[in-house]
Amino acid sequence: MTKKTDYIIVGLGLAGACLSVQLLRRGKKVMVFDMPDLNRASSVAAGLFNPITGKRIVKTWKADEMFSYLIDFYRSVEKEYHIQFFNTSPLYTPFKTIEEQNEWMGKSADESFRDYILQVTSRSTYGDEVNDPLGGILLGRCGYIKTNIFLEGIRDVLKRDENYREEKWENSKMSVSDEGVVYKDLIAEKIIFCTGIHLLENQLFKGLPLKPLKGEVMSIKLPMELNRIYNRGVYIVESGDNIYKVGATYDLSNLQEETTVAGRKELEEKTKELLSMPFEVTHQDWGIRPSTIDRRPLIGAHPDQKNILVFNGLGTKGVSLAPYFSDQLADHIIGSGNLDKEANINRVKSLYSRFR
Ligand SMILES: Cc1cc2nc3c(=O)[nH]c(=O)nc-3n(C[C@H](O)[C@H](O)[C@H](O)COP(=O)(O)OP(=O)(O)OC[C@H]3O[C@@H](n4cnc5c(N)ncnc54)[C@H](O)[C@@H]3O)c2cc1C
Repeated sequence: MTKKTDYIIVGLGLAGACLSVQLLRRGKKVMVFDMPDLNRASSVAAGLFNPITGKRIVKTWKADEMFSYLIDFYRSVEKEYHIQFFNTSPLYTPFKTIEEQNEWMGKSADESFRDYILQVTSRSTYGDEVNDPLGGILLGRCGYIKTNIFLEGIRDVLKRDENYREEKWENSKMSVSDEGVVYKDLIAEKIIFCTGIHLLENQLFKGLPLKPLKGEVMSIKLPMELNRIYNRGVYIVESGDNIYKVGATYDLSNLQEETTVAGRKELEEKTKELLSMPFEVTHQDWGIRPSTIDRRPLIGAHPDQKNILVFNGLGTKGVSLAPYFSDQLADHIIGSGNLDKEANINRVKSLYSRFR
């Protein structure tokens, strides 16, 4: 017997989970395919969101729109589905040099940073927890989501309504036309691939400029509870019971599917530099981020087949990008909105092979 749905979503990482929520909220039916064991990005992530990143003191791309949107989005998901995974928390970065201290002092007077900077200090403020002899910057609008609780919560909702299949998607079993998509017993209007780095194995998108970026994280046990996120070289984010996630490394060349001694050494050294207390490493993990050369997501329809779409390229910032761009993509899918030019997959259409 055939089963009709509006949209098929392949992949239940941050991209697929946020898009599922958005489409369900618009009254649409979805069928989601996923292989949780293949997930080596969303499930490993510390789940941090931080609007001011990098060595330069600049807001991340679209910070003003994206960060207010994500806070409302995750809070409303918690309420709607009765799950708890979202936490706001100040983030403290100790200064390394006097120049840096001066630069931040200057920025704190800048009106456009008013909502983000909670405090700038020039002498040690949290010295019993971190090494901050020159003081530091305390940022607001930061926090973290417990990604596994979020993903499991959405998976449970989909399972409950029989909108979830734990099975590997195979393109060879799909037929697509301008009328829609047929897959085994399923008929849908469109399919959206939210398969993270596994999109590189998908012949339909061969040549798409996705760049695997490996990351390692470790979990540490601390003798005391921290009241904020710390970030300098590594971030230290609470994950329950005095266990904290420390991350991450960035490796474009060594993509071996395992944790490494070098990864552990780097994380341990940076943690020792940041923390002023002893810690015990309890776990190490690895994952591969689906990043892009221009650091912008890849969203939209395949140029040769409008019923095949993609939501990918979330790179190092899936937690903050996924809510905002899933909203945009969901509107676009149901025919009521345009895609951001910088994120639209059209910008790279000359690079990947024609639909066959
Ligand atoms: C170590 C590390 C730390 C990170 N920390 C952070 C952080 O603190 N904050 C932040 O914002 N981002 C962080 N990131 C980045 C973030 O994890 C990614 O941006 C995000 O998870 C990408 O989500 P995704 O849904 O695109 O891909 P994925 O999470 O990889 O999800 C894709 C899903 O598709 C499924 N799939 C693939 N192929 C098939 C198929 N054929 N059939 C069925 N299912 C399939 C996979 O099993 C998987 O579940 C981190 C990443 C790493 C590796």
